[in-house]
This record gives sequence, structure tokens and C-alpha cells, in this order.
Amino acid sequence: MSEIIQPHGGHASEGYGRPKEQGADFSHGIALYLEKVSVWFDSFRALNDLSLYIEQGELRCIIGPNGAGKTTLMDVITGKTRPTEGSAFFGQTYDLAKMSTEQIAESGIGRKFQKPTVFENFTVLENLLLAAPKDKRVTKSFFSKLDAEVQIALDQTLEQIRLKELVKKPAGLLSHGQKQWLEIGMLLMQRPKLILLDEPVAGMTDAETERTAELCLELKKEHTLVVVEHDMSFIDTISEKVTVLAQGAILAEGTLAEVQANEDVIEKYLGR
Ligand code: ADP
Ligand code: MG
Repeated sequence: MSEIIQPHGGHASEGYGRPKEQGADFSHGIALYLEKVSVWFDSFRALNDLSLYIEQGELRCIIGPNGAGKTTLMDVITGKTRPTEGSAFFGQTYDLAKMSTEQIAESGIGRKFQKPTVFENFTVLENLLLAAPKDKRVTKSFFSKLDAEVQIALDQTLEQIRLKELVKKPAGLLSHGQKQWLEIGMLLMQRPKLILLDEPVAGMTDAETERTAELCLELKKEHTLVVVEHDMSFIDTISEKVTVLAQGAILAEGTLAEVQANEDVIEKYLGR
């Protein structure tokens, strides 16, 4: 017999005998599973028995009053806060409750916080390069010789965030909106599978908000997104499925029109 039979029909060089395949496993079509998650701060429940499933490729909007637990939800997904009860999985295999924030970021979850945290004294280009994965970062003379993968990520990112003309500008001189886009760009340099945006258009001008909506729709083509926002016209532009959170639990889920017509949502969030 000249051929060695491989158990999975593959070649001996593929996977066989190696550690389990790297990266998130979305084989069931679900990117994120939160099951019966509660977060307690002393006796206060910031999240209360919350279950949420985000499909791969989905753009999910999360709305709700201040203090509803929206940011806490992102803290749980990124490992900043541990669930007191319940479980959080990224794809089939990553148990987020058992991973460090660094491991979670490396596994493919990128988060943008409410306030931009760009390095003000560095240029747009420097900020983006500093955000590239550690093992891909430039070694020798800082920016003279870029890893091919980093170069591709950089070109694509600059195109998406539309800051190509401003690469040499110190981040501190950018407008608020441009800083937010730069920070989204810094996320994109890490090639995340799941992107979490916490109030991305807060403080933006109308034009910047519109541009951010376009960016979100563009990102949706390659990423799964979870976006927390209060701006209803922004939500209206980008949303498919909307989840309304109040007092740490899900109040309603559906299209924006559906949740806006929901009596509980009107009472506890939108007002009459
Ligand atoms: P949202 O983002 O929806 O406005 P948060 O998730 O920030 O709400 O907060 C939910 C509730 O949990 C708030 O009442 C907040 O005061 C409380 N909370 C958040 N983080 C902490 C913490 N580290 N310690 C105590 N209470 C917290
Ligand atoms: Mg918040």
C-alpha cells in the first residue's frame, strides 16, 4: 500500500498531531453565547440572569436607559468583569469567564470604550502600528520595514476609517470624530472577529455620525458587531436586530420599529 490513510481525509501535514486549531469556532453560526449571566456589585445586580446570542456576521444594537448594564455587558464579554453567575462563550470553544482580558483580545474580540484612548502625541500612523498584534510589530528601524500582513491591514484600515490623508498628523490634533475612527482603526489592526462599540457616536456632529453609520455597515461585511448607542437615528440607519436592556435584563428584542412599539420599552425607556 503506497498511501497512508488519514483519519480525517486530509494530509499528514494538516492539523494531525498538532494542537487544536487556533481561532474561534463559529461552526454553529453563533459568535457569542451569554447564558443566564448575572453580575453582582455587592447586593446590586448590574446584570440579572441575562441570556443573549449573537450570530456570526450579525450587527446587533443594544439600547436602554443609563445604568441598564450595557457597559457591564461589554465588560463581561471582554473579561474586565467576571460573571457572578452564568456563562459566556465566544464561539463553541472559548470560555470567556476563564480567560484573561489579553487572551480574550487575542482570541479575536476587539472593544472600543466610550472615551477615545488614542495616544495624543503619536501620529495616526504610529497609533495604528502600535495597535498591530505584538508578534507582527515592527522590530528594527521603527517603520521602515513593515511585515506584509501589517501593511495590508494598515492600507485597508486607513481606507475604511478614511484617515489616509492624515497619517502624519498627531492624534491630539484630530477632531473628536476622527479620534473615534482612529480608535476603531486601532481595533481593526488586530483583525478582530467580534467588534464591540460602546456609544461610538456620542459627541459627534451629524456628519460624523452619518459617516460612522457607513463605517459600521462596511465593517459588518467582515465582522460581527455589537453596538451600544442612544442615538436613535443612528440605530435606525444601521440596525437589524435591536436588544433593549433595562435593569440588567432584556426588555425586548426585535427590529427598531418593533421594540419602539413595545409597551414595556415605552414605559421604561422611551417615555410617553
Ligand atoms: P450602562 O452602560 O447601561 O449605562 P453600566 O453597565 O455602566 O450601565 O452600569 C450598570 C449599573 O451597574 C449602574 O447602576 C452602575 O452604577 C453599576 N456599576 C457598574 N460598574 C460598577 C462597579 N464596578 N461597581 C459598582 N457598581 C457598578
Ligand atoms: Mg455605558
